[in-house]
Amino acid sequence: MDSKVRVRFAPSPTGGLHLGGVRTVLFNYLFAKHNNGEFILRIEDTDQTRFVPGAEKYIQDTLAWCGLVPDESPLHGGPYGPYRQSERKAIYKQYADKLIAQGNAYYAFDTPEDLDAKRKEISNFQYSRAHRMSMKNSVSLSPQVVDELLKNNTPYVIRIKVPENEAVSLEDVIRGHVSFDTNMVDDKVLLKADGMPTYHLAVVVDDYLMKITHAFRGEEWLPSAPVHVLLWKYLFGLELMPKWAHLPLILKPDGNGKLSKRDGERLGFPVFAMDWTDPNTNTTTIGFKERGFLPEAFVNLLAMLGWNDGTDKEIYSIDELIAGFSLDRVHKGGAKFDYEKAKWFNGEWIKQMTDQKLAELVKPYFDQAAIEIHEHSYLVKVVGLVKERCQLLQDFVAQASFYFQAPTQIDTASIASKWEEKKHRFFDELAKIYLNKMETGMLTAPAIELEAAFKELVAKHELKPGELMLPFRIMLVGGKFGPGVFEIVETIEFKDTVSRIQHCLQLLS
Ligand code: GLU
Repeated sequence: MDSKVRVRFAPSPTGGLHLGGVRTVLFNYLFAKHNNGEFILRIEDTDQTRFVPGAEKYIQDTLAWCGLVPDESPLHGGPYGPYRQSERKAIYKQYADKLIAQGNAYYAFDTPEDLDAKRKEISNFQYSRAHRMSMKNSVSLSPQVVDELLKNNTPYVIRIKVPENEAVSLEDVIRGHVSFDTNMVDDKVLLKADGMPTYHLAVVVDDYLMKITHAFRGEEWLPSAPVHVLLWKYLFGLELMPKWAHLPLILKPDGNGKLSKRDGERLGFPVFAMDWTDPNTNTTTIGFKERGFLPEAFVNLLAMLGWNDGTDKEIYSIDELIAGFSLDRVHKGGAKFDYEKAKWFNGEWIKQMTDQKLAELVKPYFDQAAIEIHEHSYLVKVVGLVKERCQLLQDFVAQASFYFQAPTQIDTASIASKWEEKKHRFFDELAKIYLNKMETGMLTAPAIELEAAFKELVAKHELKPGELMLPFRIMLVGGKFGPGVFEIVETIEFKDTVSRIQHCLQLLS
């Protein structure tokens, strides 16, 4: 067998990608790249009733945004394609037939009505060894009846015949030895009446045909594992079975259960990677991308939800993650999601990014807010001035719009209570000084000089700088935020500074 590491992410395209799903992608990707292996995207779309238009494209776009690009996929092709299970329909029947021939599977002719009646009759009905003989299938019926039914083209499904009183086990890379009692496992459908395989058959056949060496997936798939192990045993032999790793859940912020889309809506943070609009309901669920996260930060924070390298280091580039990743440092327990911490990661990545690159990324947010930017180089400069204060890309609009236009909302209430005539006179004179400088042709001056001149004027008016700094800031930016006041004056220059002072003085008088 090829010894090259080959892993797969095998989503069913049913909607937006939850951050748990992206973390599964990430761990697959990191493991593959760490081991010079290959990462495959396989679309598991055999359940036509759950097909959602646009979901596959969404998955591919999400992977592209995160930079977790598969080596093989429906989009990229590859030697083991097709990578969409619906296009592989013809492949699976022979494996179902093989299972029948070996006595590991059987035909079941029960109609939907038969099954409904049983469910009504028996609470928690499972099609399993306990009820197999009371149903209409090739185990309970005589061979002649079965032949007759098949000859008459009676619709059937093929079910796995789960053995009685056996223990099925697997060595999970994260959880260690996991064992299941087959008496608790039901006879899952493998092939449906329309000839489509179910997930259980398709996942095993495709992992085999695509030479998958390691299969990582969410912990919620653990209950399905005994069926998969049995299929491996019956079809291909356990020696070829991939090594399993069932990844722990991402938990709600309070640690009580799995983080759901609804938690995000309730608590006001994204749970999906990117915005997802459900084509059936036309409702949009927000994503990390549109919430202003950088893909580098998103990937970094996901890696830390369940993995660390044993040190306190938290900020990792993708290359560092690839170099450092190992499955034995993935935690067994679930990881609590903390949105404040997620924003912190983004803020750290924003700080590291060049002003040039950031300016390109935040420009669309200024466009959206209808804030005109005349010179790109000015945006680059402003981005550098405020990036320490921004955790999300759209924070730049709130933190920096005053560099481009006079504030539309001015918190005069915070000034008014301590406003006095002498402060008015002070700002009046300050504006005049700036106007005089403009008349000599000066547009602005360095912050340090502006500050010295300001302090001199404060002394002349027998005031204290402390009482004037806040009003000055509010005049310039509209509120109690922003970088150093004199750096702001230096950047917006005398002309705008004067008009903002004058406008505010009018408001206050
Ligand atoms: N198709 C399954 C899903 O939708 C994949 C489970 C697996 O990786 O085996 O998540």
